Amino acid sequence: ETQTPFVLVTEDDVAQVFTPRERFSHKGTFGHALLIAGSKGKMGAALLAARACLRSGVGLLTVHIPQRGETIFQTAFPEAMLSFDPNTDRFTTIPEISTYTAIGIGPGLGQHMESGAAMERLLQSVEKPMVLDADALNLLASNKDLLERIPARSILTPHPKEFDRMAGESSCSYERLLKAKTFAIDHKLCIVLKGAYTATCTPEGNIYFNNSGNPGMATAGSGDVLTGIILGLLAQGFEPETAAVTGVFLHGTAGDLATAYRSEESMIAGDITDMLGKAFKQLR
Ligand code: AMP
Ligand code: MG
Repeated sequence: ETQTPFVLVTEDDVAQVFTPRERFSHKGTFGHALLIAGSKGKMGAALLAARACLRSGVGLLTVHIPQRGETIFQTAFPEAMLSFDPNTDRFTTIPEISTYTAIGIGPGLGQHMESGAAMERLLQSVEKPMVLDADALNLLASNKDLLERIPARSILTPHPKEFDRMAGESSCSYERLLKAKTFAIDHKLCIVLKGAYTATCTPEGNIYFNNSGNPGMATAGSGDVLTGIILGLLAQGFEPETAAVTGVFLHGTAGDLATAYRSEESMIAGDITDMLGKAFKQLR
C-alpha cells in the first residue's frame, strides 16, 4: 500500500498560483460567483461570505437571499448583485443558474425542510464543482442520500462538529483526519477539515496541511469568510483543490495580519476580510 502524501502548504506554493492580471482583462475574465446564503436572523453570515468572496478577486458576485435581506444587503454591500427567493425568510427556490462559473451554498442558510428540498434540486441541476459549508453540511447530515448528488470535486468545509454529523463521531482528531481522507476519496470530494492546521483532503487521497491562522479566528463568522474566499477562487477558474488549499492559506494569513493589530481577543470575522488585500500583497 502506498503512503498518503501529507503536504505542508508554503507561501511559495500559494504565490505561484497568482499571476499578474492581463492589462486587457475585464470583469468577465474573472468569473461570476453565485452565493446562496442567509435566512431570517442569519443574514450576517451571507454578508460576511459575500464580502470575502468579492475581495478574493472574482469579477462578479450574485447573492441569492430571502426577500427580507434586500435593504440590508443593498445598503451594506453595493458591489454585490442580488437574486431574491420568493420566500421572505429562507431559501426555497433555486434561481436560474446557467450564467454562473461557480456556486456556493450554506452560510446562514438555516436547516428548514424546504431549504433541504431546494438544495436537493440544486444538487441535481449543477454539474460543476461547488462549495458547501455550514447549514448546507447540516442538511447533508440529515439526508445522507444527498451526498451522492454532490457534483464531483466539490469542496466541503466542515468544522469538526459538522464533519462528525456527516461521517459519525471520532474519538480523536487523528481518527477524524483519516475518516476525512476516506470520505474525500469515497465521495470524490475535497474535504476542508477546519481548525488549527486545517487539513484539505482531496479525492486523490492527498492531504494538505495549513499552518497560517491563529486562535483569534475562533470567532463567529470566521468560517463564512473562508467560504466566500474559496468560492471566489473557484469562480475565477482555479481547480477545486487549488481554490481550497490557496483559500485556506490566504484566510489564515489574513487572520494573522488581523491579529497583529486587533489582538486575538478583539478581532472579529470581518477583520479577516479587511486584511485579505494585504495577504495577497504579501505573496508578491
Ligand atoms: P467556523 O467554525 O465555520 O466559523 O470556522 C472557523 C474558521 O476559523 C476555520 O477556517 C478555522 O480553520 C479557523 N480557526 C478557528 N480556530 C482556529 C485556530 N485555533 N487556529 C487557526 N485557525 C482557526
Ligand atoms: Mg461555519
